[in-house]
Amino acid sequence: MNILVFAENQNGKFPKSALEAVSFAAAWAKSVGGSCTAITHGQIDASVLGNYGCNRVLHLASLAAADGEQITALVIAAAEKSAANTIVLSHDTTGKSAAPRIAVRWNAGIVSGATAIPHGTTVKKNVFSGKAIAHVNITSEKQVVTVLPNAYGVHATGAPCAVEAFEVSVPAARVVVKEVKLESAEGIPLPEADKVVSAGRGMKGPENWGIIEELAKELGAATACSRPVSDIGWRPHHEHVGQTGIAIRPNLYIAVGISGAIQHLAGVNGSQVIVVINKDPEAPFFKAADYGIVGDAFEVVPQLIAAAKAFNATK
Ligand SMILES: Cc1cc2nc3c(=O)[nH]c(=O)nc-3n(C[C@H](O)[C@H](O)[C@H](O)COP(=O)(O)OP(=O)(O)OC[C@H]3O[C@@H](n4cnc5c(N)ncnc54)[C@H](O)[C@@H]3O)c2cc1C
Repeated sequence: MNILVFAENQNGKFPKSALEAVSFAAAWAKSVGGSCTAITHGQIDASVLGNYGCNRVLHLASLAAADGEQITALVIAAAEKSAANTIVLSHDTTGKSAAPRIAVRWNAGIVSGATAIPHGTTVKKNVFSGKAIAHVNITSEKQVVTVLPNAYGVHATGAPCAVEAFEVSVPAARVVVKEVKLESAEGIPLPEADKVVSAGRGMKGPENWGIIEELAKELGAATACSRPVSDIGWRPHHEHVGQTGIAIRPNLYIAVGISGAIQHLAGVNGSQVIVVINKDPEAPFFKAADYGIVGDAFEVVPQLIAAAKAFNATK
């Protein structure tokens, strides 16, 4: 089985989600004795993709920012060039836009949001907002799989590899991204953050968010919030996580003064480690927590900040 993986160039860098897709595809190819080729575009050092395990990189340097139609044409041409029968993309905004088009044009079965390296033709994915796991069998000869961000992780297992210039004509862009502006104050996009400090209505008002931001800063984390907090304007909407907000899967999720309603959990229950701080020992969030602190946020959070500062001072 030969795999072609798409690695998006975002403003001259590979985002974490692209490196994760390459790591996933390379490990999958290795597990079945196949090859893994990456395709990328634009001005970028494409050889670094070899660090994440692929054997070969195809590079269309002349294509800068690309829309879903262009990525579809590029990826299918690269799959044909590398004799791949499987295409892997990240389940991020770009992957979600391109993967279904690729599957239709390529006459392939598609599974979106895979959470683990497939066994045989069976791909695991979350369903019902992460409350259940589906095992999906792909029966078609060709397959397209998107990888849920933060499900597999980035694994630097290889070394820089050879890059081959790749030429293909792609259709003119119908949509052009003019600018991508990070909304997060600290510049850590929430879906890519390794650590997240999140707070809810238990913080009583927007004037109290200083300790949440300070804890996030000490931990190198992004900030998030529950839906009512963004609905009432205490925090910006791009911080809202949950069923109707952003779904995240950080390595560490600290929830302060959040009750743990099912709609909130739907967006955060894929986190590796969940720490809950709540003054109500009966708060439902404790059932989903790896670590729980029953206490007043206004006493607990300043102590965590002091501990993080003391720890950072030893580095
Ligand atoms: C269709 C639908 C979709 C929804 N989608 C989302 C979504 O995407 N995301 C989301 O978050 N919600 C969503 N909700 C809302 C959800 O049901 C909850 O109402 C919401 O998550 C509660 O927010 P909260 O925990 O901040 O507030 P509350 O439920 O008011 O909980 C506040 C918590 O803070 C604790 N607390 C209070 N004071 C302190 C203190 N001093 N120290 C420590 N703890 C304290 C309390 O014990 C309580 O547990 C949705 C609801 C519906 C109906």
